[in-house]
Amino acid sequence: MALINENFLKLSSNYLFSDIAKKVKTYKITHPKERVISLGIGDVTRPLPQACLEAMHKAVDEMGNQQTFRGYGPEQGYSFLIDAIIKNDYASRGVTLDPGEVFINDGAKSDTGNIGDILRHDNSVGVTDPIYPVYIDSNVMSGRAGDSDGSKWSNVVYIPCTEENHFVPEFPHRKVDILYLCYPNNPTGTSLTKGQLKQWVNYALANNVLILFDAAYEAFIQDPDIPHSIYEIRGAKKVAIEFRSFSKTAGFTGVRCGYTVVPKELNGFTLAGERVPLNHLWNRRQCTKFNGTSYITQRGAEAIYTPEGAIQVKENIDYYMTNARILKEGIQECGLKVFGGDNAPYLWIKAPNGLSSWKFFDKLLYEVSIVGTPGVGFGPSGEGYLRLTAFGERKDTLEAMARLKKWL
Ligand SMILES: *Cc1c(COP(=O)(O)O)cnc(C)c1O
Repeated sequence: MALINENFLKLSSNYLFSDIAKKVKTYKITHPKERVISLGIGDVTRPLPQACLEAMHKAVDEMGNQQTFRGYGPEQGYSFLIDAIIKNDYASRGVTLDPGEVFINDGAKSDTGNIGDILRHDNSVGVTDPIYPVYIDSNVMSGRAGDSDGSKWSNVVYIPCTEENHFVPEFPHRKVDILYLCYPNNPTGTSLTKGQLKQWVNYALANNVLILFDAAYEAFIQDPDIPHSIYEIRGAKKVAIEFRSFSKTAGFTGVRCGYTVVPKELNGFTLAGERVPLNHLWNRRQCTKFNGTSYITQRGAEAIYTPEGAIQVKENIDYYMTNARILKEGIQECGLKVFGGDNAPYLWIKAPNGLSSWKFFDKLLYEVSIVGTPGVGFGPSGEGYLRLTAFGERKDTLEAMARLKKWL
């Protein structure tokens, strides 16, 4: 008899985006003449940069040739990509990394979920709230989150980020062993300055906290005072793992590639208090459960760092950030309060007149045919907010704002 992992039964079967899809489907059936504009799901719309396409075409041809065919690659990734990452994403910002500290993967979702494999089941977990749902759900699956009361998990410490504290998390009152930080943030679109992030690194150093830092949106940063990597802060290599992704940066949501940095000086502890380098554990985990990202994909990712690739990536980022500005200005002109959007492709709107997230979602859908994402779907502190993304097409972004202005 195969017993199941009953932690899975604790997860609500409803997934935020499938609830939204159902509502949109119903609306479309009852309002067949309306054109719905989706600024809901955080997926990109611009095609791959030409440099990536060319590199992938070339790699495909290599795979068809006896002399250049590649089978299994290194589980950690090819050195051509690791070296390009270290040189362009880190050395350029004064951060030195050893090639053995970078692990190429098939996207940041996998590793932000998988990292729990190397951590004990009874660590306490801290998250900023609202948050990317993967962090909590993956801890529920491993039993680390405890039990739910319908909105919060008993072993998760929620650190509210709201208008009241300007979306800057304050140190928690309860002890946490593992802390997830995502900056620039999904869903609020807000960011932390170097000084603010430094306080968290110092907090982690003083309290033996492991920070899991998700930097999936670093490429959208415009302000020079905002760190792209947590390792730009002194001491961070002793406390943090960093996750990066090419998904939003270069349109790789369908191609699948990202990477995880596990510094060699970062330690975890045995129950007896002995220090153990997390890099060794993660390497062991990857070699057992992961057989590497495809060669073709890694060649595509490498091309992001060529001069042409870098220009093309920047064009796409600029396109989305122009959308973000159009959204922010349009929403402000309507007299609504809106946050984020300056260094991230997300806008976090305060629902007017004290409306709940879902009420505001319904209103936008039924009155202007615009789909957002209810903030409460990202955690209890998201109640009363709604997220719009800047990943739409320009004409849709403009039309959405025109509809909003006419409506209010
Ligand atoms: C989109 C996103 C990722 C990237 O996921 P991939 O698996 O790399 O596509 C990671 N973290 C956050 C917060 C995201 O929004």
